[in-house]
Amino acid sequence: MADDPHFETRAIHIGQAADEATGATIVPVYQTATFTQDAIGENRGYEYSRSGNPTRDALEAALASLEGGRFALAYGSGMAAIHGVMQLLSAGDHVVVCDDLYGGSYRLFTKVMPGFGVRFSFVDATRLDEIERAIEPATVMLWIESPTNPMLRMIDIAACGEIARRKQLKLVVDNTFATPYLQNPLELGAHVIVHSTTKYIGGHSDVIGGAIVVDDEATAAKLSFTRNATGGVPGPWDAWLTLRGAKTLALRMRAHEANAQQVAEFLRERPEVERVHYPGFPDHPGFELARRQMRGFGGMVTLDLAGGAPAAKRFAESTRYFSLAESLGGVESLIGYPWTMSHGAFEPEVKRSKGITEATVRLSVGIEHADDLCSDLTRALERAVSAR
Ligand SMILES: *Cc1c(COP(=O)(O)O)cnc(C)c1O
Repeated sequence: MADDPHFETRAIHIGQAADEATGATIVPVYQTATFTQDAIGENRGYEYSRSGNPTRDALEAALASLEGGRFALAYGSGMAAIHGVMQLLSAGDHVVVCDDLYGGSYRLFTKVMPGFGVRFSFVDATRLDEIERAIEPATVMLWIESPTNPMLRMIDIAACGEIARRKQLKLVVDNTFATPYLQNPLELGAHVIVHSTTKYIGGHSDVIGGAIVVDDEATAAKLSFTRNATGGVPGPWDAWLTLRGAKTLALRMRAHEANAQQVAEFLRERPEVERVHYPGFPDHPGFELARRQMRGFGGMVTLDLAGGAPAAKRFAESTRYFSLAESLGGVESLIGYPWTMSHGAFEPEVKRSKGITEATVRLSVGIEHADDLCSDLTRALERAVSAR
């Protein structure tokens, strides 16, 4: 609709009208476990904060709007949200999953869910024929991430949506890396979106959280019921911090992206660097697809060092502004060594099949000044090589 407010405006206003009780301009932190009832069976819309809390409701309204979905549910972590989606399944169900997957999701799918009778097949989802081949009569769900972690490959969400429609599967997209600012999977045919709001949506590395966004009312009702029954909710403070972060998502993503582009171009010219994986390069295999299904290329850059494992490790330990840490998507730059950090849970041959080697380093490019980030990386590259 032509007069729908834009993303930036929705991030600041949807779900965030002045507080009815006090006029507080900013949604208050309703730090309360319970709500006093006017009479038995009469309340003002809230009874107990596991079931519903006004601060959490505000966050959910904003997130639903940012993803262009009708319903959002906030969770205590991205993994709690992912587990929430798992609770849509029953024993005997089968799920086809992209093999380039967040390590925590891989752990849940391989170590926890099989005990509940749910089976998973992992496929290279950049190849649609592999997805089709893995579908069985018991398959009910297709699970993808795009861009993938850490190699930043692109999976065609609309094409997966078409397969899901034809085979009557639910298509789930983990949209954490892309963010709703750059990609809206529901518009591309997905049925369920999950987020780790810990990353770009929260944006300041100061709160853990997750969310699910759906359009279908029956799915939303089932998720809401199981979340209340199992309890994976965020507290009011965490909901508030996440909402505070989400207000600036558009600004931050533009800064992350501009910096990532500069860092990626800089790294590509350095002799210490063997290869830079960045979807904004026209020679990246997912470039055209990224241009089609995203509104930008994001803030992540992955590189392979020419000097192998020793150089990569020394590089990752030598930066000053890039903190050596798990996670991504905060205003501060982070550097990670996927082989033992984010992807430590994968078997070595699985890692190699995804293109992750002991020379691979992942950067979450923050919003510091790009020149300072490039100087920092220059120093670290020089150190990484000189110590050889
Ligand atoms: C971090 C992350 C998760 C898990 O979220 P938590 O908030 O750490 O529980 C899931 N998916 C992706 C892509 C992630 O990066």
